[in-house]
Amino acid sequence: MTTFLDSHAHLSDPAFDTDRDAVIENARAAGAVGIVCIGESIAAGERAAALAGRHRGFVWFTAGVHPHDAAEFDEPRDGAAIRDLAMRGSVAIGECGLDYHYDHSPRVMQRRAFAAQLAIARELDRPVVVHTREAEDDTRAMVVEAGAAAVRGVLHCFTGTAGLAEAALAAGWYVSFSGIVTFKTWGGDGDDVIRLVPADRLLVESDSPYLAPVPNRGRRNEPAWVSLTVARVAAVRGVDPSTLGAETSRNAARLFGLSISRENHS
Ligand SMILES: [Zn+2]
Ligand SMILES: [Zn+2]
Repeated sequence: MTTFLDSHAHLSDPAFDTDRDAVIENARAAGAVGIVCIGESIAAGERAAALAGRHRGFVWFTAGVHPHDAAEFDEPRDGAAIRDLAMRGSVAIGECGLDYHYDHSPRVMQRRAFAAQLAIARELDRPVVVHTREAEDDTRAMVVEAGAAAVRGVLHCFTGTAGLAEAALAAGWYVSFSGIVTFKTWGGDGDDVIRLVPADRLLVESDSPYLAPVPNRGRRNEPAWVSLTVARVAAVRGVDPSTLGAETSRNAARLFGLSISRENHS
């Protein structure tokens, strides 16, 4: 069986309120060796921490403030909450970053909240989970600066240019692909980006409940379906899915400092 690690799932989302534990078991049955549950807000981080506590060794959690909510980011209050969740075992800061597509928060506020969370990552020596959309120049500048300060992280759900991926890789960062790579709209340029990422810097993710891969597009996504993304990324790279699944699991474990207990993970 192809195994994989879902490096980015929003299992705290209300979309999973009725069957969260069943979704986790489905993932395990489909070959998952673990799931990183993303806290995209302080409240979501708290829920993610509780979930991880109930599924130790299989679910881990992160905590941060999403760029959509950057206008409400309050460094004394939210920084303290992020540090507290880190002390309680969060494996990364985030997701945080820049989203100039939706612009739900003013860009200057997005940069301020992102910079503050990068500083916390540096202070606590934690990796960062970064969301970036239509904000390439500012993302590149901030990731390169963070990389120079020994901060590491991942550009999640990557849909950017080869240039942004290369800059992040040069800064020591990782690049993660979601079910978007199975969509008809994913073009040849995207495949080139999939191929340029070294095998030891590549991650895969569901970004569930969003972005269900084909043939489940439009449905509520779940971590089990990362297997479809693994198959697509492996095909583009011309490698065996089981090899790619094992490599990306090891990469996630290295980046986030996870010890994967499942025997058949490699
Ligand atoms: Zn995101
Ligand atoms: Zn996310």
